[in-house]
Amino acid sequence: MVDADQTFVIVGGGLAGAKAAETLRSEGFNGRVILIGDERDHPYERPPLSKGYLTGAKERDSVFVHEAAWYAAHDIELHLGQAVTAVDREARTVRLGDGTVIRYDKLLLATGAEPRRLVVPGTELAGVHHLRRLAHADRLRQVLAALGRDNGHLVIAGAGWIGLEVAAAARGYGAEVTVVEYEPTPLHRVLGPELGQLFADLHSDHGVRFHFGVKLTEIVGQDGMVLAVRTDDGEEHPAHAVLAAIGAAPRTALAENSGLALVDRADGGGIAVDESLRTSDPDIYAAGDVAAAHHPSLHTRLRVEHWANALNGGPAAARAMLGQLVSYDRVPYFFSDQYDLGMEYSGWAPPGTYDQVVVRGDTGKREFIAFWLKEGRVLAGMNVNVWDVTEPIQQLIRSKAAVDPEALADPSVPLESLVG
Ligand SMILES: Cc1cc2nc3c(=O)[nH]c(=O)nc-3n(C[C@H](O)[C@H](O)[C@H](O)COP(=O)(O)OP(=O)(O)OC[C@H]3O[C@@H](n4cnc5c(N)ncnc54)[C@H](O)[C@@H]3O)c2cc1C
Repeated sequence: MVDADQTFVIVGGGLAGAKAAETLRSEGFNGRVILIGDERDHPYERPPLSKGYLTGAKERDSVFVHEAAWYAAHDIELHLGQAVTAVDREARTVRLGDGTVIRYDKLLLATGAEPRRLVVPGTELAGVHHLRRLAHADRLRQVLAALGRDNGHLVIAGAGWIGLEVAAAARGYGAEVTVVEYEPTPLHRVLGPELGQLFADLHSDHGVRFHFGVKLTEIVGQDGMVLAVRTDDGEEHPAHAVLAAIGAAPRTALAENSGLALVDRADGGGIAVDESLRTSDPDIYAAGDVAAAHHPSLHTRLRVEHWANALNGGPAAARAMLGQLVSYDRVPYFFSDQYDLGMEYSGWAPPGTYDQVVVRGDTGKREFIAFWLKEGRVLAGMNVNVWDVTEPIQQLIRSKAAVDPEALADPSVPLESLVG
């Protein structure tokens, strides 16, 4: 067991960091736990920022991982509004922005990701937004409400999950919404063209205008305010506000500056960790959006930017820091809600990895399960408005057994019976 006089430091006050701190205590660690985050809010969950909190259905208080008093009650030292600016691996210290130096025995980097920025003229204009933080959501809520009131136009660059969820929220406020996307369908790099089109249809039915296969080249302003956007097909689209939703980049600066092994950006980027979430330094771990972990059963390195990975990866890293044998091999999982469509996705099957898509149910009614297969084996499954099937879908993925596509497509055949 780890000595009581040890100090475990966690950098990053998001879900992965908070859950790691919680696990250190629940596993009986009674040394110092120090959680350092550069945001002023105590750790919160981000999914509601583009869904319930953005639409106004959820209260601000509901997004926090724990209430503020929980940290003191569990003897977790919180440093909020403080960035860690350097890690000295030799001295085993971290330095905060105000110059404070803190020694660690084990360190967890849970620094998450940050929105990618558009590199076009006009991004300095008032009315250009990103969505990552609670403060961003506070502002965007007001913007969407005002757009809805005034018949205003929101242009969203990027038809990924966040772009689409904000489109749905904005339509709920009554704003006009145009989405500009370089790929031919929404969510192209996750779902491929077959299922991406379904999301295009969903949003078109709710009045969203799409422009696929084009790049946003300029945000046009007047008196410092957004007026329109231009795309590389020569079109101009009216805009009173712009949301850049073009993905997120892992926050690897600390790891990079301290010489930890990273993964190439072309391979997804992130801090390279083994299956126990340990970095190239045996006293430093990484979890959540920033970690590119070797996945023991998928036999590949993956950086998963999803809630469930922060929820489970933080605790897994904490257990590894305590010296437990950890092999983090969860099937990647995420969820989304848009209008009256709710979905869950398990697995990993970007275009190029699968050779067949099998659908069970009715895509027209938007009530179905889609499976992505390679040589008859299920790589991933997405249930849309069909519930309580995550476990059998994940069992099918884990089993790696070939399944009969006809039986897979037949709703009268229980999924459980197909698990090899
Ligand atoms: C708007 C939005 C909606 C989402 N919706 C979904 C969803 O529906 N389903 C889903 O599965 N996933 C969703 N996600 C993704 C999910 O929220 C992330 O995967 C999750 O937040 C990752 O948690 P994390 O703890 O790794 O990182 P983060 O939540 O990014 O937390 C990292 C924290 O570390 C801080 N930090 C970084 N560097 C430093 C430093 N040097 N010093 C101190 N602090 C630092 C950051 O400011 C941040 O507070 C959504 C994300 C966003 C932004």
